[in-house]
Amino acid sequence: MGILETELAELQQCVPRVIADSTVEACVPAMVRVNIERTKYKQIVACFQFQPDYPSSLALIELKSRHVSEKLLDGLVKLCEEEAKKYLGKPQVLHVLRFVRNFIDENPLCCCSEEISNVRKKLIAGSDELKLRQKTSSVVVKVQEGQYVMKYNITVPENYPDKQVGIEEKECNFPSVFRRWFLAQATEIARQCVEPPAKKRPKDPPFVLRPSMEPVVSFLVSEVHLYPKLECKMCRKKAFPTNPKDIETSESGPLHVERIYCGHVYHNKCLDKYIRTPPFQGGKKCHTCNNKIYHDKWKLTPETAEARWAHKQAKQRELDEVVDFLS
Ligand SMILES: [Zn+2]
Ligand SMILES: [Zn+2]
Repeated sequence: MGILETELAELQQCVPRVIADSTVEACVPAMVRVNIERTKYKQIVACFQFQPDYPSSLALIELKSRHVSEKLLDGLVKLCEEEAKKYLGKPQVLHVLRFVRNFIDENPLCCCSEEISNVRKKLIAGSDELKLRQKTSSVVVKVQEGQYVMKYNITVPENYPDKQVGIEEKECNFPSVFRRWFLAQATEIARQCVEPPAKKRPKDPPFVLRPSMEPVVSFLVSEVHLYPKLECKMCRKKAFPTNPKDIETSESGPLHVERIYCGHVYHNKCLDKYIRTPPFQGGKKCHTCNNKIYHDKWKLTPETAEARWAHKQAKQRELDEVVDFLS
C-alpha cells in the first residue's frame, strides 16, 4: 500500500472518533471530503486533493460552507495551508481537519460572518465601531452621531440563528425615552426573526426563521444616526440639544423631546400647543408624515379638545373684560 492509501485507511477509521461532529463523505485517492457540523450555521466542508508526489507536496485544500462567508473561508484556507506545511513529507489531512474544528470552536462568530461583513460594508461609517469578541461570542457595536453615543453588546448564542441574539445596552447618552425605545424595539426585531407572529393572517407568507444579528445592528445604527439630526417641525429647530448634557429630563419640561407613534419628534411645548389649538376635527396630524398623532401624554378626543379650547377662550374673554374694565 502506498503512503496515501495508508493515510486514507487511517482517516476512515479515526476521523469520526477524533474530529467531533464530523462525517467522512468521500475518502478515495481522487478526493477526501469531510463535513464538520457543530451546529447548522457552524459548519464547514473540507476537501482535499493530492498530487502524485504527495505527501512531499502539499495537499490541495478547499473549504465550503452554507453559511460561513467566502471571505472568511479564503482566509481560513491560507491558514490551513500553513498548518499542512508543518507536516510536509508526512500525512497532512488529519492535522488540517483538527485545525478547522478548533477554528470553529474558537471563533463562534463564524456563524454570522456574512452578517458581520454586511454590517461593516453598509452601515459602519466614520467613528462607528464594530468589535468582535470571539471569547464571549459577542460583538460590541459603538455608534456615534455628533456628541450622542450608543454602545451595545450583542451576544450570539450557540444555537444561532434558531435562537435570537442577546441585546444589552452598555452606554447610551440619549434621552431615556429613546434609550427605552432602542432596547425594546431591537429586542422585538430579534424576536420576530425567530418567532412566527402570534396571529397569522390567511394571506401572510409562511414564516421563515431569519438570522437576527444584522437586522438588530442595522436598526440601532440607523436610529442613532437619525434622531440627533431630526427637526421639530413646529418650531423648525433641532429636537435634540447639541450637547447631551442639556437634555431636558423632566417629562413636563418645555424642551422635553416627545417621540410620537409614527416615530417623529417634537418638543413637549410645541406639541402641546399644537394639540390644544383648533381645528380639532379629524384629529391632529404629524407635520412630517401626516399620520394621526398618538401619544400617551395627549389622549384628547377631538370633542374634549374642542370643549377645553372653548372653555379656555371663555376664560380669556372674561379676563379681557376685567382688563378692559380696569383700564
Ligand atoms: Zn419645537
Ligand atoms: Zn410622523
